Amino acid sequence: MKIFNTLTRRKEEFEPINPGKVGIYVCGPTVYDFIHIGNARPMIVFDTLRRYLEHKGFEVNYVSNFTDIDDKIIKRSIEEGIPASEVSEKYIAECKKDMEALNVRPATTHPQATREIPEMIDMVQTLIDKGHAYEKNGTVYFRVRSFEPYGKLSHKNIDDLESGHRAEAHQLKVSGEDEKEDGLDFVLWKPKKEGEPFWDSPWGEGRPGWHLECSCMSKKYIGDTLDIHAGGEDLIFPHHENEIAQSEASSDKEFSRYWMHNAFLRINGDKMSKSLGNFFTVRDICKEYDPQVIRFFMLSAQYRTPLNFSRDLVEDSAKGLERILNGAEKLRGIIDKDNKKPVTDAEEQILEEEIPKFIERFDEAMDDDLNTSDAISVVFELVRYTNANTDENSSSDFAGCLYKVLNELCDKVLGISLERKVEEIDQSEVEAIEALIAERTAAKKARDFARADEIRNQLLEQGIILEDTREGVKWKKA
Ligand code: AMP
Ligand code: ZN
Repeated sequence: MKIFNTLTRRKEEFEPINPGKVGIYVCGPTVYDFIHIGNARPMIVFDTLRRYLEHKGFEVNYVSNFTDIDDKIIKRSIEEGIPASEVSEKYIAECKKDMEALNVRPATTHPQATREIPEMIDMVQTLIDKGHAYEKNGTVYFRVRSFEPYGKLSHKNIDDLESGHRAEAHQLKVSGEDEKEDGLDFVLWKPKKEGEPFWDSPWGEGRPGWHLECSCMSKKYIGDTLDIHAGGEDLIFPHHENEIAQSEASSDKEFSRYWMHNAFLRINGDKMSKSLGNFFTVRDICKEYDPQVIRFFMLSAQYRTPLNFSRDLVEDSAKGLERILNGAEKLRGIIDKDNKKPVTDAEEQILEEEIPKFIERFDEAMDDDLNTSDAISVVFELVRYTNANTDENSSSDFAGCLYKVLNELCDKVLGISLERKVEEIDQSEVEAIEALIAERTAAKKARDFARADEIRNQLLEQGIILEDTREGVKWKKA
């Protein structure tokens, strides 16, 4: 598999440190509110990467954090008059519900910053001992110029950064960071302010800086060197650049071999973000669309391509997904008929020669830097092919083999279930519907077609579609 590595700006063949095993760290959300669908893009994309690597036989250790202490969480806790931990716990729980709806599997570990403070203090101490960090009045800063490769991920020149910072010198005075040795230096540990949560440390009571948590938690749950570090492209600088500085300066080892960054989900050409106010929460969008449609929509673009969110494009995805689900339903219908006749030679040839070509092309697309867009095109072709090569007389074994392949690609790898989500209907509603259907059948028998049509329309208004088949009347929710 080839992965575009932000570090080298090239597509590179992926080779894990330990054969057969992959350690992935994905920066997770700051939990002070419901997540928006922009935040859902890295979740869906890298969950799909994990599923694909597992499909290829790798054992994946997938770690994704929740930032549960931060200025925005504290602001929210003050506004609502509740402890910061209550804000973060609430939105972690809500985020997990959204992830489940989007079929994003829980990470192997979801560490939380506030539960890893001793590890963070250790790393800060190591950095001070090695001359990479210094303390001023209870704040510990990372000494950027002590880390020679600084800028290697974002491909920024340290002197250009420095002159940018000089222009901001006035701003630094305002923020109280003017005691830094150098404008480039960033905070590892900050002293508490009145009313804020704090932890004891050798530098006084305070809390860790944001960048530090990912360096520590990835080290603890994966190791000094990660196979893949991922997140949205806004994290390249300064967050990931600073993570590299902290981790490599403290361990003297390479921090991550591959860096993957997803492009933004946009709306009218702008990044969807809380600060611009142009966002939709996952929760709200899922009231309008099946969450599975949102997942399918996200995967309709390769992850490094910006993706514009619009209702028209989501509707297109819904229609596309419907074609796949209809194809799957047809195969299930044949399987259910349980036609036991043996697989014919022609069918055998399809299974042994034609179907593997689709799988190969799907894998080729995914191997090319996770090109889910092309992989989905292959799935469409596969569905067209299975539709054209099966009918109600096909054997159940043949349909079963085709279904298994489609299910492996859609459900296992892309995380798109082939089963339509059936809305829960309670038993009394089912009984009422079936009583009306029985009445309609009786009306038709008595040649009272007006009454029969009336019942059909009445059910349609309730969102129930009737289908007259040779086996009798079938019904489904619209
Ligand atoms: P945050 O909570 O802002 O730290 O974001 C959590 C994750 O969502 C990070 O990986 C961000 O890069 C990512 N993210 C935020 N907004 C967008 C967006 N509009 N499109 C894609 N990814 C985003
Ligand atoms: Zn991070």
